Amino acid sequence: CVLQVLWWGPRLAASSTDFFSAIPQMSCARKILNVIFPTKSPTDVDRAVKAARAAFRLGSPWRRMDASDRGLLLTRLADAIERDAGYLAELETLDNGKPYAISYCVDIPNVVKCLRYYAGWADKWEGKTIPIDGDYFCYTRHEPIGVCGQIIPWNFPLLMQAWKLGPALATGNTIVMKVAEQTPLTALYVANLIKEVGFPEGVVNILPGMGPSAGAAIAAHMDVDKLAFTGSTEVGHLIQQASGSSNLKKVTLELGGKSPNIILSDANMEEAVEQAHFALFFNQGQCCCAGSRTYVQADIYDEFVERSVERTKNRVTGDPFDLKTEHGPQVTWETQLFKKILNYIDIGKKEGAKMLCGGKAASDKGYFIQPTVFGDVHDQMTIAREEIFGPVMQIMKFKTLEEVLERANDTKYGLAAAVFTKDIDKAHYLSSGLRAGTVWINCYDVFGAQAPFGGFKASGNGRELGEYGLDNYTEVKTVTIKVPQKNS
Ligand code: NAD
Ligand code: MN
Repeated sequence: CVLQVLWWGPRLAASSTDFFSAIPQMSCARKILNVIFPTKSPTDVDRAVKAARAAFRLGSPWRRMDASDRGLLLTRLADAIERDAGYLAELETLDNGKPYAISYCVDIPNVVKCLRYYAGWADKWEGKTIPIDGDYFCYTRHEPIGVCGQIIPWNFPLLMQAWKLGPALATGNTIVMKVAEQTPLTALYVANLIKEVGFPEGVVNILPGMGPSAGAAIAAHMDVDKLAFTGSTEVGHLIQQASGSSNLKKVTLELGGKSPNIILSDANMEEAVEQAHFALFFNQGQCCCAGSRTYVQADIYDEFVERSVERTKNRVTGDPFDLKTEHGPQVTWETQLFKKILNYIDIGKKEGAKMLCGGKAASDKGYFIQPTVFGDVHDQMTIAREEIFGPVMQIMKFKTLEEVLERANDTKYGLAAAVFTKDIDKAHYLSSGLRAGTVWINCYDVFGAQAPFGGFKASGNGRELGEYGLDNYTEVKTVTIKVPQKNS
């Protein structure tokens, strides 16, 4: 049924103006883009890589296109997504289970902003002139890397797609993207929009295949120049190994986290409770940067825990298409997801953490899990160390800033962290000591296309978003020219 919905997509999308078909060298672009469904084998990956390579060859329409026109195509893609926002948001909710209000009001606007942001960069990503020693003129060119493999997860299907498309296309690369097997629908709809707005054939190739077959084939492919991956740390290891044993393709990784959220006793209690709740439960807890270790200073601990439990009990769980719903189902039942979360809850109880609310599947239909809070959690417990990726909150107690800093950093991860305090000195002390790629002060999950995001330590390498995001899709070429000193 969902698939049928998808094939209505092209009809909905067919109404736009035909600006680009008026430009002679772009009219062939209407054929475009390989959507291969479903990807069964490395052969399909190979076809996609060949198409991306052909689109990248010197002299191709894409390589000859003015940078400002690449920007224009990205702008037109953003416009098309905005035009079809309602349809895309519905599809995203059907596919992923996240509340429709979130798909429509959070995911889609951020997708549109991300693409517009990178559209603006396309003709502004400048090299340098460099005063080297001797009689030489030296400058750098920022060139695309080439064929970029991109493997994305299911928790923010549209947004992760935009984070990957934006910088790669702005800088002139071609793409072979494998979307998550759990949530391929919106990515395929966007593939149609990419075609509609006039990207040349072969520039973007989207494959909705499985990880160990299609994903692994991209990671190991000898003709893929770069691989960007977002997902589990476990698969991140495999991706990096595949690069090492194939062609040393450049690898950027956005992996998991176990992010500390530190609440000081001088914080605004109401805001801290609400933000800590949001930090963990947003998107059914399926966020790489979830605030999944809530550290609360001893003198406010009891009140904070009590209010957090009350807030969690009031979290509106139900039909994701009901606009009042805050909390939908987990993405799927697979052992590594729905069942894995319930298993972590059992482990938490067995290891002696105090379960204060929730703890069960919320219904015998669908993959709903009751929002769950554990108090009296200790740092060595499994639920305080491993990424649960579900609606399970861990609250810990601390006394001093030195102590909490050490405990917060005692993890293999380093994706994000947050501090709630009114004291600017304490905020600076903690934000400079925390080993994490993002530190939020008195807020959580604040993202902008302009600000880089990525991990320290095993949370990954490279940054997405912002100007920094362009680096990972760029080769820097140094050109040095002898300058004659005499007029001969
Ligand atoms: P995953 O890492 O297996 O999947 C992410 C993407 O990688 C998907 O597109 C998948 O098909 C692909 N993939 C899987 N195996 C692959 C392989 N061998 N080679 C190449 N690509 C491969 O994640 P998951 O199994 O969906 O979820 C498991 C756990 O991962 C979650 O519980 C959570 O802890 C974590 N996770 C993190 C993020 C994040 O945003 N950082 C997103 C999803 C999942
Ligand atoms: Mn997996």
